[in-house]
Order: sequence, then structure tokens, then C-alpha cells
Amino acid sequence: MRVFKFGGASVRNANSIKKVATIIQFYIDQPLLIVVSAMGKTTNALERLLNLKNGNLEHELNQIITYHSIIIEELFEGKNPLAEELRSIKSNILEQLKNTDSTPEELYDQVVSQGEIISTLVVSAYLKKIGLPSLWKDARKYIVTDASFCEAVVNWDQSNNLIQSLTDVLNKSIVITQGFIGSTKDGRTTTLGREGSDFSAAIFASCLSAESVTIWKDVPGVMSADPKRLPAAITFEELPFREAAEMTYYGASVIHPKTIKPLANRNIPLIVKSFDNIDLPGTRIHKCKIDQLPPLIVFKDNQCLISCQVTDYTFIDESQIGIIFSALSTRNLKVNMIQNSAISFSFCLDFKEEKVLELIEELGKIFEVYYNTGLTLITIKNYDTDSYNKYKNQKNVVLEQSSRSTLQVLIKSTPLIASEQ
Ligand code: ASP
Ligand code: MG
Repeated sequence: MRVFKFGGASVRNANSIKKVATIIQFYIDQPLLIVVSAMGKTTNALERLLNLKNGNLEHELNQIITYHSIIIEELFEGKNPLAEELRSIKSNILEQLKNTDSTPEELYDQVVSQGEIISTLVVSAYLKKIGLPSLWKDARKYIVTDASFCEAVVNWDQSNNLIQSLTDVLNKSIVITQGFIGSTKDGRTTTLGREGSDFSAAIFASCLSAESVTIWKDVPGVMSADPKRLPAAITFEELPFREAAEMTYYGASVIHPKTIKPLANRNIPLIVKSFDNIDLPGTRIHKCKIDQLPPLIVFKDNQCLISCQVTDYTFIDESQIGIIFSALSTRNLKVNMIQNSAISFSFCLDFKEEKVLELIEELGKIFEVYYNTGLTLITIKNYDTDSYNKYKNQKNVVLEQSSRSTLQVLIKSTPLIASEQ
């Protein structure tokens, strides 16, 4: 059997959903489980609701519902077979937002998960309309997680048993389910972290021993750089699992970082294919060995560089580094680059403003803390002489580091890079 994942861009309007159906029709020779994200930018819109009240809240929510209704009516010749479902989703969201008992994180998951519920109802209904046997399944009944809302951790044993029970259904019908969402043992909705639908596809594939997972994207495959930034970027035909996993670690957003591990462990290939041009071969991420990969360049914007200095002429030691890391880990903040000197410890991380400012305040009680924001971290993996020289000798570098295969430079601004191309 195969697992497909369609992201928000692939279901952002009626035409894209029709395209999804066309793609599916090509692949019904085998059982198929399809993971679908929320439509277009719905997740962002649902996130915004959490900060709104009363009239503004109703207005924004109505806009989300209208956006979906228009798509549905276009797919169903002016009719809306899901009007009742939309009404109940709307009233559930309003109800949840009034509920002051939940933590903000739990509330987030209850509300934001609804985007995936709507999108899958639409796709499933449309497939049925055009005569494709499809069954809508609630991913929350299959993906069991702990209660770390917003970044829930999967309980693999329990999820495995539940997901395997889908095998019979899959022999009779295409299964449509949601990415990104799961639930605790006691039935509370959780989410797996933003952009987590790729990971959901990998969970289903791993538990069902799928032949492959295909992620349909708006790019021809995995590319050597973001083509919007470096138009000369090339598409890889194939990549070893490890290489792809490392790319995601450095910030390549083409695949969610948690996706590779479950697939690599079970040796299930991941194919990244173009949604717009299905004749293109895409990229196959699998067990393989490639001797000479071209340089791979990853840009990570919105970085913050923090330097902690000791104030009394003692040197930075392990216990001080320990303090810094425990302050980071209690806030679930991850560092992207580290540099240590006698009296200063510097690290860069994503600038999640509220959490990072709180961190800086806490570290300021012990160290003299300096920080810069508005930085971009550029990682050049498998660099060659040209790429090494080009990126190393830039102006505006505030921190750099290189190993035998990877160069990382943290720079002050990005326009310089783009205009150099
Ligand atoms: N809809 C969720 C998000 O936008 C999950 C996903 O698209 O993968 O983050
Ligand atoms: Mg999305």
C-alpha cells in the first residue's frame, strides 16, 4: 500500500482539490491512505482566532467558514453537502474559545485541529462524488500521543495497534485522514507541531509497512536550495535518508524534521513529487549511497544570536553552560549553532520573541548578555571550493563555523545574498 500526503497548498481552492482527485485516480492500483493538511492558510487563520474576542472573533471565524463554503460550492455545483458539519465546527470553536478551563496550549490544539477536520471532509466527499470509493477516518482515533499539547509525543505502541486495524478497510477503499493531529489516551485532541502532516504520513506508513510515502509539493522535488532564493538550485533525483534528515535539521523546510526517522527505520522510501507536474520524477529519499553530492544550501531566517559573558574574569565552564542549557530546555528552545570562548558562550536560535526575551532576562541574572536579531543562518552542506569561498567571504558575517563537510555562517541580512545571484 502507499501513503500520500497533500499539504495546504494542494487543497487551497476547488481546482487544486480537483487536481488531487486526478492524481489519486492514477494510483488506485494499490491500497492508498491519504493524509491531508488544512486548506491554504487555514491553520494560520485559526491561530489568529485565539487572540480575538467577541465581534472580531465571530467575523474572522465567519471568514474561515465562508472560504471553505465557497470551495465546497464550487466543487458541488452550487450545493453544500457539508453545511451541517461546517455549522457544528463553527459552534464548537466558539464554545471552545469560551472555555476558560483549558490551558492556552490545549485550547490551541482543540481549535487549530479543526482546519484538518474540514479539509478532509471536503476531499473525502469530493472523491465520493466523482465515484472514487473513499472513507473518512479521524486520525485522533489512530495517533495516540501524550498530553504535551502543541508538540505532542507519539505513543508508538498504541498507535501501531490502532493503525494496523485499518488494513482491512484499505483493501476496500481509499482512506482519507488528517495530518498534524492526534489525541491523548483519554480523547483530548493534540497536535504534533506546525507543518506536522508529513510526520503523520510517516507514522501511518511506518505502522502499515507501506511500500512508499509520497509528499506532493509545489516544487519539483528536494532541491539543492530554495529556488526562490537561488534560482540556479537543482533537483536531486535521489538522496540517502541521512542526508535528507540532516537537511531538515539545518532548516530545509521541504520536509518536516521528524518525518525521516520512522521511514528510515523501516526502510520505506519517501518520494517528494511535484503537484503541478506529475510527470516529473521528483526526488526519492531512500537507502542509497551517493559519492559526490553537490553543495546543499539552507537558509534559516529570523535568527537571534545571544552571547553570555562572565563578568568577574572567571572562565566559562561546564556548570555555566549547564545553566544556559537548562534555561533553554525548560522553554523548549533549540539552538542552531554554538560557539565557546574563554569568557563568552554564544549561540543562535530561532527568534521566538516572547520565549527568547524571557530567556535573555533569566540569563541576565547571571551573565552579561548581548543579543542581535534579524540574522540569517546559512548552512552549506557538502561544500566545494567555490561555495566555501563565496559564503565564507561575505560581508556582514557575525559568526561562522566549519567542519570537514559543512560550513555555517550567520549573517546580518539576506538581500545581499539574493542580489549576488
Ligand atoms: N496545517 C498544519 C500547519 O499548517 C499542518 C501541516 O500543514 O503540516 O502547520
Ligand atoms: Mg499547512
